[in-house]
Amino acid sequence: MANRRTFLRWSALGATFSGAALEACAQPAPVRPAVISTWNHGLPANMAAWEILSAGGRALDAVEAGVRVVESDPQYRSVGYGGRPDREGHVTLDACIMDERGDCGSVAFLQDIKNPISVARKVMEETPHVMLVGAGARQFALSQGFSPENLLTEDSEREWREWLAQQEPEAMPEINVENHDTIGMIALDAEGNLSGACTTSGAAYKLHGRVGDSPIIGAGLYVDNEVGGAAATGWGEAVIRVVGCHLVVEFMRQGHNPEEACRLAVERVISKNPDWRDIQVGFIALNKQGAYGGYCIQTGFDYAVQTREMENTLLPSGSRI
Ligand code: ASP
Repeated sequence: MANRRTFLRWSALGATFSGAALEACAQPAPVRPAVISTWNHGLPANMAAWEILSAGGRALDAVEAGVRVVESDPQYRSVGYGGRPDREGHVTLDACIMDERGDCGSVAFLQDIKNPISVARKVMEETPHVMLVGAGARQFALSQGFSPENLLTEDSEREWREWLAQQEPEAMPEINVENHDTIGMIALDAEGNLSGACTTSGAAYKLHGRVGDSPIIGAGLYVDNEVGGAAATGWGEAVIRVVGCHLVVEFMRQGHNPEEACRLAVERVISKNPDWRDIQVGFIALNKQGAYGGYCIQTGFDYAVQTREMENTLLPSGSRI
């Protein structure tokens, strides 16, 4: 409970001292470093990120190292190695990364590479482009020294075959509140710089070739170093339609605290998706002052937070239902 109280206190500070109020009065000491990430797999991810942040490292390095933990662990069935495949049995990965300069890199529909977030960072740092997809992204990864490997684990394959046996041959993927869970992470380093990362195997048993929100800058992830950063999880199609994370950051720019900004973006998703009761969409956000928050459509969405004041802790986001 102490952690929950601390969370509420700092969130409230973010609300009090954001936007116009920030200009009108002295700013509170920023809460930094700080890192937040989606779902319970955010806990091990935050630990890896915190090692870098607490040693004075850069937020960009922290978010890459953090989400790589989840990408590499086959027990997490919605990200990287061991992720659930598409309906044809191919594991196809989406990821993006964005730093304090607004530089960004992204890969989509990438196969055979365990850590797409690191390929996304290479796209950002080694090419003049932002986004590479499919065979081209794979070819680029190999040219950068990444090794190809089979990402479909025995467990994921068995589950997929069981699912397949119950399907009509041409049935469309089902929109529902399950079958997903991206890891999105935002970090604020000791220098006061923000970065973010987002990586997923996408909606389980999606159509071959489907790309979700997670590798799309502005949809699955957005960072503006003057304001804050946001990451999304849930039904990617609904997030893309409202360019969700850019929206969250713009709400923070207007003076809303992180949870309120996430709530307003969820309300926008709801207003544009008549089927909103059947889907889950959630956002997390961290602002430049180190205040954080999360909001989603359906309850059950937790996110992990670590700051100097608070041990790595899972917190419940606000929710509409
Ligand atoms: N947003 C991801 C996608 O649509 C999945 C998720 O986070 O649940 O691909």
